[in-house]
Amino acid sequence: MTLEISSALLGRLLAEAQAAPGLEVCGLLFGTSALIAAAEPCANVAPDPARAFEIDPAALFAAHRRARAGGSAPIGHYHSHPTGRAEPSATDAAGAMGDGAVWLILAGQDARAWRTVKPGAFEAVEFDVVTSQS
Ligand SMILES: [Zn+2]
Repeated sequence: MTLEISSALLGRLLAEAQAAPGLEVCGLLFGTSALIAAAEPCANVAPDPARAFEIDPAALFAAHRRARAGGSAPIGHYHSHPTGRAEPSATDAAGAMGDGAVWLILAGQDARAWRTVKPGAFEAVEFDVVTSQS
């Protein structure tokens, strides 16, 4: 299945990553298994945010609480690799839970989507950037 994202949303995320040189940015993704409809930037609370990311647990908790109240559920998250490639790092693999979550990884002008299908492993998700009107 192809995962779609609008060019406007992807552009916003790439700009957010570029505005934080040397640091990994991160946030939550919302939508369906076919569409990333929205993204919410979150604080990176990792001890070493230049080399890893950890989404602020309070933001994650708030998102799940909103989902229980009828909001859209988080389908995964995004983060940036300021110096690396848009592929899961060894650190990312260590954090992969195998829960089907989407991992969108940003590196420079590149973005690739992955899904964690079993603990420690990712599969590439076919990713389609759709030109949006706005
Ligand atoms: Zn990473």
